[in-house]
Amino acid sequence: MPPLSWNVSEIFYSVQGEGRHSGMPAVFLRLAGCTMGCDFCDTKYAFAPGIPMNSLQILVELAKYPCKTVVITGGEPAEQDLPSLISVLKSAGHTVHIETNGAHDCDVSKADFVCVSPKKTVSENMLKKADVIKLLVGPQTTPQDVEKYYPCENEKTTLYLQPLDNLQENIAKCLQLIKQHPSARLSVQLHKLIHVK
Ligand code: SF4
Repeated sequence: MPPLSWNVSEIFYSVQGEGRHSGMPAVFLRLAGCTMGCDFCDTKYAFAPGIPMNSLQILVELAKYPCKTVVITGGEPAEQDLPSLISVLKSAGHTVHIETNGAHDCDVSKADFVCVSPKKTVSENMLKKADVIKLLVGPQTTPQDVEKYYPCENEKTTLYLQPLDNLQENIAKCLQLIKQHPSARLSVQLHKLIHVK
């Protein structure tokens, strides 16, 4: 059997800009490809095929950084063999966070943290596995959109509302929605505010 391989868009070391771990250093492992096709996607460059990397190549790259927390993101990581990738990283002693659109139900039970950001479709099973549900808020977002995920069914899950592109009108809408849904939390894209990747 050939060794497992993943198509990787990029690996870089930065600071988590969103949600519960905002401000925390992490290595980002961005897998290539996503078929969701959101107009507002801010990582369209990850739609390119990427570079095939096997587990050893990925671990060697991750070992260049002093931080053991790895955020697997995309693109959409669940469009590749995400459970095997999580196992590889966990076996090497990494703390593994997942960022997914949640459209593909897959086994993320070995991950330390799972953020599901629903887009056009989402798996109910993946919503149940989420530590955080991150809803992007733009001009079209309504209270009914928030109520699809609020209150979160699962006690461990927190709903974050994140203004699209940090735009002032979207921030104002988030604040209004959070005041109406007080268990929800605000997530701003810190990395865009401080102009880092
Ligand atoms: S699901 Fe995420 S990565 Fe995929 S197109 Fe939409 S915003 Fe981009």
